Amino acid sequence: MPRSLNPELRRAVAERLRFYNELGIYDFYRRTRSVEATSAVAVADIDDRDNQLELGEEMSPRKATMAATPVAVEESIFEVIAPKPEQGVSDPAKALKIIREDLGDCTRCALHKQGRKQIVFGVGNPNAELLFVGEGPGADEDEQGEPFVGRSGQLLTNMIKAMGLTREQVYIANIVKCRPPGNRAPEREESETCSPFLMRQIAAIKPKIVVALGAVAAKTLLAMSASMVQLRGRFYDFRPAGVRSPDWDGCKLAVTYHPAFLLRDPRQKGEAWKDLQMVMKELGLKAPKPAT
Ligand code: URA
Repeated sequence: MPRSLNPELRRAVAERLRFYNELGIYDFYRRTRSVEATSAVAVADIDDRDNQLELGEEMSPRKATMAATPVAVEESIFEVIAPKPEQGVSDPAKALKIIREDLGDCTRCALHKQGRKQIVFGVGNPNAELLFVGEGPGADEDEQGEPFVGRSGQLLTNMIKAMGLTREQVYIANIVKCRPPGNRAPEREESETCSPFLMRQIAAIKPKIVVALGAVAAKTLLAMSASMVQLRGRFYDFRPAGVRSPDWDGCKLAVTYHPAFLLRDPRQKGEAWKDLQMVMKELGLKAPKPAT
């Protein structure tokens, strides 16, 4: 879209945005045509076969919709014109409550009529320094209303413990808050509709580090298309899309394997541990001594 709009078009766009804001929709994206043009990750030295295998395995428990189709990179083009209801609320717990209320009994995307039992908002410490983001609730999470409480959740809990932390000290959320049927990956539209609420949760909590668990979380948060091999092993500067928090510049984001992938391929646990150690170093955490 050209930078300078003619005034009439600008007025029409502003009116339309206000209308969407009233509906509770704050964030707008343009779909660009090419992935390569905006990807921030160097793609040299990557073995395609490894990528395919890793992506396929990474996403196989949920049908790999994002891996199967070319992923267009999203680019935010509109400034947010209306303040979020939690803006100016400095207490993260209160801000989260406001965001939860704003979400309501959400029917914004198709997932609400595809068998979800409840919305799985997120759980943990509103003042957490570390925030984990998964893909979307599975059957156990849908049942209990809490992210990562099934088998993957047990592994995530152990990973958190290995870092010297407890679940209560961190915050855990997902890209989508309703269970995708059949454990498929969230569709693009579902992620786009739901993730602005996650972005607001992150902005309210202001963690030092966000850890994206798996390719779906990483690609959605970073708005880029790349393999796990390309995405892991470094920090990204992360500012939640669409959120303008005057007192917060952003945080770091790291990518690691999804616990469900690690359950299927435990040989990759060492690699995930390297990712977590990178995070621990940044947070000044030491692994607890093994019990004797
Ligand atoms: N997998 C996820 O990505 N999130 C959950 O909450 C549970 C399993």
